[in-house]
Amino acid sequence: MSSKKSKKSKIQLVKGMRDVLPDDQVYWDYIREKVFSLAYPYSFKRIDTPIVEFTNLFKRGVGEETDLVSKEMYSFVTQGGDKLSLRPENTAGVVRSYIEHGMLNLPQPVKLFYIGPQFRHDNPQAGRYRQFWQFGFEIIGDDDPILDAQLIAISYNILKELGINTEVHVNSIGDDNCRPQYLKVIKKYYSDNKKDLCKDCLSRLNQNPLRIFDCKNKKCQSIAEQAPQILDNLCDSCKEHFMTVVDYLDEMDIKYSLDPYIVRGLDYYSRTAWELFTENDKEEKTSALGGGGRYDGLVETLGGRPTPAVGFAIGIERVVIKMMELKVEIPKSKNLDIYIAQLGAESRKKALTLFESLRKEGFSLAENMSKRGLKDQLDIADKKGAKYTLILGQKEIADGTVIIRDMESGVQEVIDFNKTKTEIRKRLATHEAKNLKLKK
Ligand code: AMP
Repeated sequence: MSSKKSKKSKIQLVKGMRDVLPDDQVYWDYIREKVFSLAYPYSFKRIDTPIVEFTNLFKRGVGEETDLVSKEMYSFVTQGGDKLSLRPENTAGVVRSYIEHGMLNLPQPVKLFYIGPQFRHDNPQAGRYRQFWQFGFEIIGDDDPILDAQLIAISYNILKELGINTEVHVNSIGDDNCRPQYLKVIKKYYSDNKKDLCKDCLSRLNQNPLRIFDCKNKKCQSIAEQAPQILDNLCDSCKEHFMTVVDYLDEMDIKYSLDPYIVRGLDYYSRTAWELFTENDKEEKTSALGGGGRYDGLVETLGGRPTPAVGFAIGIERVVIKMMELKVEIPKSKNLDIYIAQLGAESRKKALTLFESLRKEGFSLAENMSKRGLKDQLDIADKKGAKYTLILGQKEIADGTVIIRDMESGVQEVIDFNKTKTEIRKRLATHEAKNLKLKK
């Protein structure tokens, strides 16, 4: 290495960011598939909002005093003087889009889901990154408690179907009607215990006393344990709403517990709040896999007409880590119909066009054109789970034929090259029928 080169600083990953490497993508694909498979039957439509928004969106929507906005946001001023931020969460962006695109005028509620990266300048550690991905579901335009229960069930069932059994910790944090009164009660309680609170909680006491329930400090936790509980201070309509949500959860066989410490950190939440924990995580007091809640005031805060809403978000990295920890097996895709193997210069050329014409017909295919040995190619076909391999060699080119190999039995037959498509279709149909019979 030249001395000039070695003096250059090494370019590496930015702190708190992660590469999702090819070997891990099976988990990510599987998670996305599960998200889609629950979203569409429940009539959620996908929405993608930009990663960059005006900083004011988050200041106003999420709350200027929250840690998320005051400490963790990546904010910058553009060359044109705009004050922008990388989104720390996606709900505010979805609601902005709902208002801006007149979704208020669609039949309500509007059901949306998203998958995308979020950015928080927090202290990186295992399972906590500065760029991380979330998928989230939002139902905007209806305050029926059945929707809270359905979203809780969807968040619980997605994780369950990914092999992760959780318990839903659910709470109600009241609304504008009863929360101010409750805040007075706990402010008084915490002020009386001020001398034992940590520095962060002392400032939370004035700005957002509910957040003291979130504190990981042991002393603060033991004070919080004795604090008056919000469930005992809800107004009648919040109480009824919450009881109805819980009633539906009983009906749906969801494993849940009532947890007065689930307060969610952001200003926009009201009424139902929940987080999802595996048993170990809760014991070790590590973070949740996901969480959600009602946000009945957010549409109005961001300039729309008063519109109730509820939603949740789950962190993909944490789900992947959990799936690896639990050794969840990802089902192998059984969809590869044909692998195309070639031997010799002429057959490679022909394989290129054969591949394209079969791809256009809709067959699922794989190839490794740069490989020369047949054994190598058959090994790959086997690993990928191909049902059949087409083998094109010099002899087959000369005879106008191609060999078709059944990868399960190893039986090979020579077929007319011009009849390749029909012969494949015939065999795939027989293959399918055999599998159906086996299943029965
Ligand atoms: P929140 O929006 O804070 O309720 O987070 C919802 C979920 O997103 C959490 O339960 C985590 O799974 C995930 N999450 C939040 N912050 C981070 C982070 N810094 N790194 C990785 N995942 C995160």
